Amino acid sequence: MKALQYRTVGAPPEVVTVPDPEPGPGQVLLKVTAAGVCHSDIAVMSWPAEGFPYELPLTLGHEGVGTVAALGAGVTGLAEGDAVAVYGPWGCGTCAKCAEGKENYCLRAGELGIHPPGLGRPGAMAEYLLVDDPRHLVPLDGLDPVAAVPLTDAGLTPYHAIKKSLPKLVPGSTAVVIGAGGLGHVAIQLLRALTSARVVALDVAEDKLRLAREVGAHETVLSDAGAVEAVRRITGPVGAQAVFDFVGVAPTVKTAAGVAGVEADVTLVGIGGAPLPVGFGLTPFEVSVSAPYWGSRSELLEVLALARSGAVSVHTETYSLDEAPLAYERLHEGKVNGRAVILP
Ligand code: NAD
Ligand code: ZN
Ligand code: ZN
Repeated sequence: MKALQYRTVGAPPEVVTVPDPEPGPGQVLLKVTAAGVCHSDIAVMSWPAEGFPYELPLTLGHEGVGTVAALGAGVTGLAEGDAVAVYGPWGCGTCAKCAEGKENYCLRAGELGIHPPGLGRPGAMAEYLLVDDPRHLVPLDGLDPVAAVPLTDAGLTPYHAIKKSLPKLVPGSTAVVIGAGGLGHVAIQLLRALTSARVVALDVAEDKLRLAREVGAHETVLSDAGAVEAVRRITGPVGAQAVFDFVGVAPTVKTAAGVAGVEADVTLVGIGGAPLPVGFGLTPFEVSVSAPYWGSRSELLEVLALARSGAVSVHTETYSLDEAPLAYERLHEGKVNGRAVILP
């Protein structure tokens, strides 16, 4: 089968032919119908060879949906042809966090060498995807594969972050979204669907701000040195009650801290890696800062249910598998509006 692989550190990913996978006992083979292109893959492909955490070559794609093509021995509850979405952050399935459905926070994944597809294990940017356990699969139940695939990460990750801040997003409150890209433009819709907060979106690109307004942002602000002042003009002295930074670099983290009000939640989702020093005099009183990772299985069900209700619709552009390297190039150059989706 054809697959998009990251093969050499520093080189662009390549479309290659690899052996067709076959499901072993307990595994499920999917015919991939769509795979999403996440900025995290670009981060992965920028890491140096020394200490690179995954084996190469690596088939990319940690957002995947497909139809069941074959069942390994002993798999029950699924049938060939079932349309499913893949819950990506695989865990051991038995530790305390996995027992809660929070496999994203599996306590033993590191020790057991368990990785998500596309982030260590062969991913969804291929004609077929091997899934280790049927528990990682969630029924699509009528959702369109292209519209649904970004929800498994670009939907689930902001959903998890926003859900945690819901008690603070009361009427009259403000939520700030920094970075209106793949995750951010879904975050805006989730905030509109789940809260009555005023949503202020920031980005460096005018086309991204336009998309932010189209999907429901009440206000948009250019993310530059004047951003804090511009947001504070909107919120007044009370500031924002929740800030979601989908970039995580030094200037955005500074903006996030600068627009947060007392008792605000500042959630660093972007993996830019800039620190946010918290302390007396450094941040407003009682600010909570967190850096979450992906979301739980039950939250994925909730995101898909929300999409089925029509409250969330991902802005997508599609590419064939052969065009997948171009999709990454365009994402890297900031030219993708919404989410790029590969159709293998
Ligand atoms: P994306 O490229 O689609 O979106 C990023 C957006 O940020 C773009 O619209 C870009 O114009 C904007 N941007 C860049 N610099 C900015 C700045 N200084 N100020 C404001 N906006 C700026 O990327 P994505 O796929 O949505 O991913 C967003 C981030 O989230 C990435 O860092 C990715 O690695 C990370 N991520 C984290 C998790 C997690 O579990 N924590 C999961 C998925 C993605
Ligand atoms: Zn991702
Ligand atoms: Zn576990």
